[in-house]
Amino acid sequence: MEARKGRLDGKVAIVTASSQGIGFAIAERFGREGASVVISSRKQNNVDEAVENLRSKGIDAIGIVCHVSNPQHRKNLVDTTIKKYGHIDIVVSNAAVNPSVDSILETKESVLDKLWDINVKATVLLLQDIAPYLRKGSSVIIISSIAGYNPQSSLAMYGVTKTALLGLTKALAAEMAPNTRVNCVAPGFVPTHFADFLTTNEAIKKDLEEKTLLKRLGTTHDMGAAAAFLASDDASYITGETIVVAGGTLSRL
Ligand code: NAP
Repeated sequence: MEARKGRLDGKVAIVTASSQGIGFAIAERFGREGASVVISSRKQNNVDEAVENLRSKGIDAIGIVCHVSNPQHRKNLVDTTIKKYGHIDIVVSNAAVNPSVDSILETKESVLDKLWDINVKATVLLLQDIAPYLRKGSSVIIISSIAGYNPQSSLAMYGVTKTALLGLTKALAAEMAPNTRVNCVAPGFVPTHFADFLTTNEAIKKDLEEKTLLKRLGTTHDMGAAAAFLASDDASYITGETIVVAGGTLSRL
């Protein structure tokens, strides 16, 4: 099947944590709109499968193993992309962990460190590596969460790291202007491996659906569509913003 050409023709996009879920859907949508996409995640076989899947849809894709908190992996991600394509136009920082459901006051220091390292610090370090290669008109998209606005119990410290990304988006938008726009997507609840409580617990799923105005959970395609808009020239006068893609779940004024 031929990839649909469009808004992202000729662009090169790196998407972290993109072998499945929201990251994969974003990469697929970018590819369908004409971008060459660089898939990455921790496990080689997941990366290979995702690349094969995209190529079977006519999308130009390469795959590189990258655990986002590993400096050598990040360097290899950037070097290999530059070697293959010569430039980078779009970066999506999507990797996150939520290793514990403890309350904040009971969260172990090692878990606090992991949350900070992967959910916040890795985005900064990755962008430090990539920034020298970003061209005029490039776009960075950070994946936060609806939990960043209202960190609820069981997602509390994870939510706080996602709140930090809202601030990071603003700060980086100022720092990287005018050549690079920096925006953020805050997804609502999307049934993925990461949010498997949505597929395994019908009561929680129903409750969260009821809390949306649109009476449904999000899909990975909803997130791909928002990210593709932000990455494209249709969003060329938008920077430092967060788009909440959560079906009307309470977030902010
Ligand atoms: P997912 O379906 O579980 O996919 C996670 C992806 O991340 C996989 O490709 C996994 O592949 C990769 N990965 C995990 N740890 C990694 C690491 N340290 N470095 C690099 N890659 C890593 O998750 P998802 O639901 O799409 O979540 C993606 C993002 O959306 C996260 O930032 C999450 O906080 C955010 N989000 C999700 C929801 C939701 O309801 N699903 C809501 C709001 C925000 P490997 O196992 O091969 O590494």
